[in-house]
Amino acid sequence: MWVKMEIRKDYVLDRYVIIATNRGKRPSDFKKSNEDLAALPEFDQKCPFCPGNEDKTPKEIGRVSNEGHWQIRWFENKFNAVELTSDYVVRTDNEFYTFGNAFGKHEVIVETPKHNLQLWDLDENQLSELIGVYNFRIEELSRIPGVKYVALFKNHGSEAGTSLVHSHSQVIAYNIVPFWVREKIKAVGKFEGCPYCKLLHRERNSERHVLETDNFLTFTPYASQYPFEVVIFPKKHVRFLNELRNVFLELAQHLKLVLNKLKELNCSYNITWINSPYDNDLHFHIRIIPRITKPGGFEFFGTHINVMSPEEAANFYRGGVYHD
Ligand SMILES: [Zn+2]
Ligand SMILES: [Zn+2]
Repeated sequence: MWVKMEIRKDYVLDRYVIIATNRGKRPSDFKKSNEDLAALPEFDQKCPFCPGNEDKTPKEIGRVSNEGHWQIRWFENKFNAVELTSDYVVRTDNEFYTFGNAFGKHEVIVETPKHNLQLWDLDENQLSELIGVYNFRIEELSRIPGVKYVALFKNHGSEAGTSLVHSHSQVIAYNIVPFWVREKIKAVGKFEGCPYCKLLHRERNSERHVLETDNFLTFTPYASQYPFEVVIFPKKHVRFLNELRNVFLELAQHLKLVLNKLKELNCSYNITWINSPYDNDLHFHIRIIPRITKPGGFEFFGTHINVMSPEEAANFYRGGVYHD
């Protein structure tokens, strides 16, 4: 077994992690059994996201239907973090106080009509269709004057911040570019050419590679902050999900592989879809973050301790078998 304590820097960011596998945990040690999602009923009368309860959600914005029944449905988030107002300008009063309206739109995308299915239960065609809806929402919301960024994300499980078990994703279009996106853009600017394009050539041959197809590479990042953290990158330099619309099914294949393994772990997780802001040039990617360990005091200094080596995590995603 690979026992090691090592400090590693992120590919581009000035951010370090400690990979400390001395605690001897194996993938099977991370399995959770307390949330039995498969035991849920197919329909829950009290669930606002279940078919028949459409009047319990804010006004519907759109749906994908099949034979008169909706398969995917989206509407404004009842507990919205931002709202459309006439003023989206962020201003500074003096050197310390910068503020503005929390401007924008916050939507929920319900991924399946079935209460007892999770994202990891959907097949590749269903995932591909969902990615199409993601793309449509990002495109439409990014056209709102004053919107600087559209953040698309998914929370699964109680450790990842979900309050409703019925599978859904969220989109927040708002009037700032988020911190880590700005940090990545700054860091990328210090390289000659796109560093992600270059490092993809390395990672496809590394111990961290998980899956490579014509257009995508899935791998566990060298300086992963969390156990089983994994990323999906288009091999071609594209800034937006929209540029990949001809290969959504292929992208769904990568997502499905990762989700299948997360289902094996039965863990909470977050997925973030990282588009470039319109005025910048950032290589589009998807980051999947299992929420198995909780950050403690040390992590608030900015250095995460990851108890699972990215190489071992990649082996797990590739379907490796573990023995004691
Ligand atoms: Zn439901
Ligand atoms: Zn690139």
